[in-house]
Amino acid sequence: MIEHEYDALIVGAGGAGLFAALEASKAKDLKVAVLSKLYPVRSHTGAAQGGISAALGNVEEDHWEWHMFDTVKGGDYLVDQDAAEILAREAIETIYDLEHYGLPFDRTPDGRISQRRFGGHTHNYGKGPVRRACHAADRTGHMILQTLYQQCLKNDVHFFNEFQVVDLLIADGACYGVVAWEILTGELHLFRSKATMFATGGWGKIWKVSSNAHTLTGDGAAVCWRRGIPMEDMEFYQFHPTGIYRLGILLSEAARGEGAILRNHSGERFMERYSPTLMDLAPRDIISRAIITEIREGRGVDGKDYVHLDFRALPREVLEEKLPEITSFARTYLGVDPAKDLTPIQPTAHYAMGGIPTDIAGRVIWDEQNTPVKGFYSAGECACVSVHGANRLGTNSLVDILVFGRRAGRDMVRFVREEAAKGKITASPDRTAAETFQKLLAANGKERVARIREDLQVAMMDDCGIFRSDEGLRRVLGVIGELYQRFEKIGIEDRGRTFNQDVLESWELGCMLDCADATVRSALNRQESRGGHTREDFPNRDDATWMKHTLLFRNGADYKFTYKPVTITKFQPQERKY
Ligand SMILES: Cc1cc2nc3c(=O)[nH]c(=O)nc-3n(C[C@H](O)[C@H](O)[C@H](O)COP(=O)(O)OP(=O)(O)OC[C@H]3O[C@@H](n4cnc5c(N)ncnc54)[C@H](O)[C@@H]3O)c2cc1C
Repeated sequence: MIEHEYDALIVGAGGAGLFAALEASKAKDLKVAVLSKLYPVRSHTGAAQGGISAALGNVEEDHWEWHMFDTVKGGDYLVDQDAAEILAREAIETIYDLEHYGLPFDRTPDGRISQRRFGGHTHNYGKGPVRRACHAADRTGHMILQTLYQQCLKNDVHFFNEFQVVDLLIADGACYGVVAWEILTGELHLFRSKATMFATGGWGKIWKVSSNAHTLTGDGAAVCWRRGIPMEDMEFYQFHPTGIYRLGILLSEAARGEGAILRNHSGERFMERYSPTLMDLAPRDIISRAIITEIREGRGVDGKDYVHLDFRALPREVLEEKLPEITSFARTYLGVDPAKDLTPIQPTAHYAMGGIPTDIAGRVIWDEQNTPVKGFYSAGECACVSVHGANRLGTNSLVDILVFGRRAGRDMVRFVREEAAKGKITASPDRTAAETFQKLLAANGKERVARIREDLQVAMMDDCGIFRSDEGLRRVLGVIGELYQRFEKIGIEDRGRTFNQDVLESWELGCMLDCADATVRSALNRQESRGGHTREDFPNRDDATWMKHTLLFRNGADYKFTYKPVTITKFQPQERKY
């Protein structure tokens, strides 16, 4: 293997990875590198549309305490409140830092950063919607990525683009780096590092209808799980209410923030019945359940499995200037003009609340006592800090990735200075990665990767979507077991080394199966309904038994659950009404 050595190594070049790299690169004596399977600005952060929240109070009164409260209540009280407080407080300085780095936010007429409404964000602890989301049209994530990437280049961060990390170097409770496949050449590289971070994003591609990019296959989470790190709260996965019918491509909540409303087959604004106060701006879990309930009760449009998003009351300049991206999506993919026509939508798999467990410094932890894996960090969608609890509010992911990405970057510098052993790192990987790729390159079975992936996506959609039950979850678990067996018998066509997408997609399918396995097992285990996890056989939230985080460990064919308490500081759990 080709060998490299760094002080701080960051895997992933989305918002979380880039902000961590930028922060670490401020320590001029440290060698900092970013590895990314994608060219950095193609990361999914660039697809984020609607906005990033911070209680700036630019358009109307707002306070970080209100933002914290909304985050905790939005997450159905499973949120760790120390983390939520950090999120809400540090959001504010983060926005101003981005502004100073050159991010072109939209402005109010008097030149301040403009803000708009988003689901679940309220004033006075739930009294009504508040304008908290800062935005750059509906291309906010794109602007964040460009801004941070340019700052990283300015600070001489070393980028290894199109390097796919496939294994983690862990020994004696500490992390010493990663093994990566160079996509151009098909060579394996060993990157040793004093501090390593995973910011590898989500795994929405395990569902058939998803807003996520094709690359979101859960690589980072799966690699950690295989190396003995537990997965936290995997049962909590968010379906966003408004994906384009059948395709799942997102129509941002910013649409409803600007005034669009949901209607069923008879044109009724049905959210009035489900959420009298916030209506179309209720949190996503509530709206997605409402849409599916409308469809199940026969009020889907034309008896089909979709409802309408109605933009017709919005002035044309709002559509063209504040929502240009989604307006063009509706035209391109549905052939409708949102100014005149109703737009067909259905819920779409969107965001992982759970993932690699970390503390508030971004350190990955081994267990329910929060024991850190020395020198190992994680932030962003692949991580679970847990600031979103059982359901994330819109615009809170972009804040999360930046606030906790930066914290991880800072603590990596501290770790390298204070805790890491001096001198060269000697740890070496076992043969797992080399053998895995040898086997994949030689695979000549009859099973096709694309078929297995499709079967997984359909089964997850049918039985581990918005509504779940013991029967359905057992069914999908059985399917996953069969798919693991079929995965052993795959064949590939391309045996070359250069840009071998065939091999990489096969490897990614293994990661998707692991993420699905962890999700379904955790969902089967949690016998209550909370946030994005709805069990039809256990319809109520059960704080007495389930006010705790799930940690799921896997060792070969053995699975073990342990639990971590929820940190509650300012807000006692209450009934969740909107
Ligand atoms: C369509 C869409 C719209 C959204 N809109 C909003 C919004 O308006 N507001 C909001 O707050 N949130 C929004 N979200 C959610 C938010 O954008 C994401 O949760 C967030 O951007 C994730 O950032 P990240 O840095 O964790 O990961 P990502 O941006 O997904 O980046 C992951 C990185 O990891 C790298 N990577 C992955 N696997 C490997 C591997 N094996 N080896 C090497 N590199 C690897 C990739 O190359 C990439 O650079 C949206 C999400 C989607 C899908």
